[in-house]
Amino acid sequence: MSKKPIEPFRIKVTEPISLPSEEERLAKIEEAGYNIFRVKAEDIFIDLLTDSGTGAMSQHQWAGMMLGDESYACGRNWYHFEATIKNIFQKRFVLPCHQGRVAENILFSTILKPGDFVPNNTHFDTTRANTMHKGGVAVDLPCPELDDETSDFPFKGNIDTEALSALIKKVGPERVPVVVMTVTNNSVGGLPVSMANIKEVRQICDQHNIRFFFDAARFGENAYFIKKHESGFEDRTVKSIAQEMCAYADGVMMSAKKDGLANMGGFLAVNDEDLAGQLKELLILIEGFPTYGGLNGRDLEAISIGLQEVLNEDYLAYRTGQIEYFGMLLQQAGCPIVSPTGGHAVFIDAGKLLPQIEPAHFPGQSMTVEFYRRGGVRVVEIGSLMFGGEDPNTGEILSPKKELVRLAVPRRMYTNTQLEYVAEIAGEIVKDREKLRGYKITQEPQFLRHFTCTMKEMVGNPAKVPSD
Ligand SMILES: *Cc1c(COP(=O)(O)O)cnc(C)c1O
Repeated sequence: MSKKPIEPFRIKVTEPISLPSEEERLAKIEEAGYNIFRVKAEDIFIDLLTDSGTGAMSQHQWAGMMLGDESYACGRNWYHFEATIKNIFQKRFVLPCHQGRVAENILFSTILKPGDFVPNNTHFDTTRANTMHKGGVAVDLPCPELDDETSDFPFKGNIDTEALSALIKKVGPERVPVVVMTVTNNSVGGLPVSMANIKEVRQICDQHNIRFFFDAARFGENAYFIKKHESGFEDRTVKSIAQEMCAYADGVMMSAKKDGLANMGGFLAVNDEDLAGQLKELLILIEGFPTYGGLNGRDLEAISIGLQEVLNEDYLAYRTGQIEYFGMLLQQAGCPIVSPTGGHAVFIDAGKLLPQIEPAHFPGQSMTVEFYRRGGVRVVEIGSLMFGGEDPNTGEILSPKKELVRLAVPRRMYTNTQLEYVAEIAGEIVKDREKLRGYKITQEPQFLRHFTCTMKEMVGNPAKVPSD
């Protein structure tokens, strides 16, 4: 049973939030075409849309912002940023950029040729899109334990190393310019990767002379899970675990909007001097001079401090504890969740909860709308609305394995009381689940429809054939 984790900070600055009236909530979501991305943030009470760039900074980070040196070249914050990243990520060359997807763009533009394969434990959306944009083939190789609901294996974020070796053998190592490991494995639920798995990938890459990179957005949360669950690491500091993880990789790309504890930022860090030189040319072209890379001096300072703070073990115990506690509350409220919980979000299986709504009518979206209507809570559908529909390239009808709703928790932002409130709303939805209805899309763009499409709620008895 999870205990309630105690926040290892007290609150010095507050931002007021308020719950719009029921009447207002019903009107706002209807005006937004039942698409939660289209609702104004000020009309949201508790916002669990994403953990990316939404967290709270510490007093040290805010103090650091005042020390911003906005010189064009070689400002003081750059040296702090560079030294921090060299130390934690164990790399010789550091390139700043304004967010993670730019690191991906710069790396893949430099090392990918059309037709190359990029294996990953699971690609994050922007990583996949950047790989494909350069003509690469993005291959997801999640480990077999992931689909075993009876397994309590703690490292379900791992890559399938057998499948990795088989892929390299099949296509030839010259067509695999890099193997990427996403820590934690965001797209499967923020689940961690073990040190043993990382070491094995290093060996496979060495055998075939292939580069090994991390997509390191949640490296701190991953290192903490290794300390908690992998034998031999119990007595190590999380920082030394993070350093060891990174030492096995040739390079790192990172979105600092997650474990950088900052609202914007990212970087690439590599050991190879020639590669660093090539990356730098493109960086200057698209982001800026290599000592700021599209960021303000003050942002570089906030990130340098955030990267160190994220390795604080009281913080990480609270952070992962809060997610586990939230998952337990949602389960107690009657929600089927994906378990074990990972580092940054809880996923509700809306497909299981709402069997009366077919995937084509978006059970996850129905629940998402209900969270807002009943509680002013913003969550996000991760199912047929986000990943289904027609593939714009092949015309194939895509259908994801599960109809999920993600409740991502921003870092150091919401108290346990606020999450308890969200779980109460979930409990009300569970009680009334038979009344929930499906949705139909009324207008959709060609790509990434979930961001902008509009929908309407279906009427009639949801258990019967739905009418228009
Ligand atoms: C957020 C994220 C990215 C992209 O970073 P942005 O800063 O949003 O551009 C890439 N990979 C992973 C694993 C992420 O979580």
